[in-house]
Amino acid sequence: MFADELISCLREMYPGGYSHTCRDPFYMLVSTVLSQRTRDEVTIPATKRLFAVYDTPRKMAEADAEDIQALIRDVGFYRVKARRIVEISRIILQDYGGVVPNSMEELLRLPGVGRKTANCVLGYAYEQDVIAVDTHVHRISNRLGLVKTSGPDETEKELEKVVPKDAWKDVNGLMVLFGQSICRPTSPRCEECRLKAICPRIL
Ligand code: SF4
Repeated sequence: MFADELISCLREMYPGGYSHTCRDPFYMLVSTVLSQRTRDEVTIPATKRLFAVYDTPRKMAEADAEDIQALIRDVGFYRVKARRIVEISRIILQDYGGVVPNSMEELLRLPGVGRKTANCVLGYAYEQDVIAVDTHVHRISNRLGLVKTSGPDETEKELEKVVPKDAWKDVNGLMVLFGQSICRPTSPRCEECRLKAICPRIL
């Protein structure tokens, strides 16, 4: 399947795209750090609880990590993430005047921030043409034969070669929706999938 056909099909299936609670860069950064190895159903309410108390880099930087832990306790690795969020906020405050940086190079210097998190900030908050490869994007791209890769960073590079650039920033949201509803990690719902006629996984 050609990548542009896949994107068109997913846009038809999910015309509203992925709906984020908030696309503010700091909110997006913290929520994506919280989402690492944690399901959306847990991440979204935890982020809301956290921002109800600490809604700026300054407030978060001055917070006690233990108070943050109490607000995000159901998130995976919450103790580590609470410390990282305080540390990230201090760096943003001290080195960037309280504004989340908008380049991959600078974002990767923040503790706990890898390419996926950086690309979520760059794509969703700063609307740059990037492909954020999470577990859904990596799995679905390989199942459909768009790429043949062993890790997310390689998937990102390979997808950049086959997906039209003007669709890069839509890839994550569309594949997350598709991966949560149809092409699930285990027990994908192939019988009701619109792509089953062309999916190499079941041909
Ligand atoms: S046919 Fe199954 S494996 Fe293939 S894209 Fe659809 S849900 Fe995923």
